[in-house]
Amino acid sequence: MKKEKTRPWPSRKGFVTNYPHFRKWKKAPPPEMSGTGPVHIYLHIPFCIQRCAYCYYSAVPLKEAGGAKELGEYVDALRREIKTASRRFHLRERPVASIYFGGGTPTVMNEGHFSRIIDALHENLDIQDPEFTVEAEPVTLARKKADFLKSVGVNRISLGVQSFCDDIIQLCGRLDTAEKALRAVEIASQTGAVVNIDLLSGLAGETMNSWSHTLEQALLTGAESVTVYKMELHANTAYYRKIRAGAIQIPSDDEELEFMRHALGRFEEKNYLPWSFFTFTQNGRHENIYASGIWRGEDCHAFGVSGFGGMGEWLFQNTSDRKKYLALAGAGEIPIQRGHRMTGKDRMIRDVLLCMKLTRLDMRNFEDRHGLSLESLCPKALEELEDEGFIRLENSHIEMTRKGILYGDHTGKRLAAPLMELDSNSPQTQ
Ligand code: SF4
Repeated sequence: MKKEKTRPWPSRKGFVTNYPHFRKWKKAPPPEMSGTGPVHIYLHIPFCIQRCAYCYYSAVPLKEAGGAKELGEYVDALRREIKTASRRFHLRERPVASIYFGGGTPTVMNEGHFSRIIDALHENLDIQDPEFTVEAEPVTLARKKADFLKSVGVNRISLGVQSFCDDIIQLCGRLDTAEKALRAVEIASQTGAVVNIDLLSGLAGETMNSWSHTLEQALLTGAESVTVYKMELHANTAYYRKIRAGAIQIPSDDEELEFMRHALGRFEEKNYLPWSFFTFTQNGRHENIYASGIWRGEDCHAFGVSGFGGMGEWLFQNTSDRKKYLALAGAGEIPIQRGHRMTGKDRMIRDVLLCMKLTRLDMRNFEDRHGLSLESLCPKALEELEDEGFIRLENSHIEMTRKGILYGDHTGKRLAAPLMELDSNSPQTQ
């Protein structure tokens, strides 16, 4: 790995996925959860067609997991869980705001698998015409499958492309090629769905030339949405082992920062506007209702192994042990294994961290929700972030500047830091 310049702060490192961290959660399901109004639905498919070299998730290649038999059993368990949980948590009484198939790679499933799960959703939930997203890896999206997805209501396809350079894709250990990825984008677009292309910035072998090529290819497809994640190195990955062995090299954080700076310029020129600090859409339209809903704290019920959701004041997660999940869900039991009841302080911090992903936070709305104003909770952070050019303060809104967008979660983390020091025993923080 190339030697880093010292950059303690700010940094693009450390993407925030959740708050509070799982280590604060209790290893017991919530005693009871309920809610009213619309609910988002997440379904987790833990299988992939390969193990990507940078992947630190618990997803497994389907062949290693037991192939079609294991997948069939998983679909059965998922159907059973949908039925059990919908009754237990009265989900049928709430309109479904969005459906999201994530993973893993949901498109390792064939039309029959999808059909059985979607039938269970319709039998047990109030589904009218929600945003309906399926994550897909290009090599798993043939025209027949894409047309089928359209026929069952899928209106958003998120393609994990990562790179349009074959040598870089190969170093990732993925089965895709640039040609297959372009074909998959075309197939997905022809269904009429909103298409999102996921790219990873900072992959092994990436240079400004290759990154620029990848970016231009993504823009040329005309996809409605392009998302750029920063590649983060984790110790449980093949990437990490190869880097330690000197077999591959990844760009430094400074180089990756320049890749993203370049991307922001190109997105602006092509009128791809940010609705989050890492997703850029044509004219700023096509906001992902599922992701923005979760970040705004709306209720979500998650199905499948490891699936995590939130309802009212509770966060919860299903067991991450696939065998245990199959046994519990298959027996008609709720497979939730841990939960966390959010305090007022947790909710404030979560709101700041996750809402800032949307690049804009309404401070009056925050005050209405929590009874305290951000101006009184973190005046110094607001002033410093504005002075340093990360945010603009306009009409009681915090707006991320281009610099703020470049540094991602940095703004949210700095605003949240003083909130973490609040006394946990006051009426507002309990
Ligand atoms: S497709 Fe995604 S979840 Fe599956 S191994 Fe690759 S990075 Fe991990």
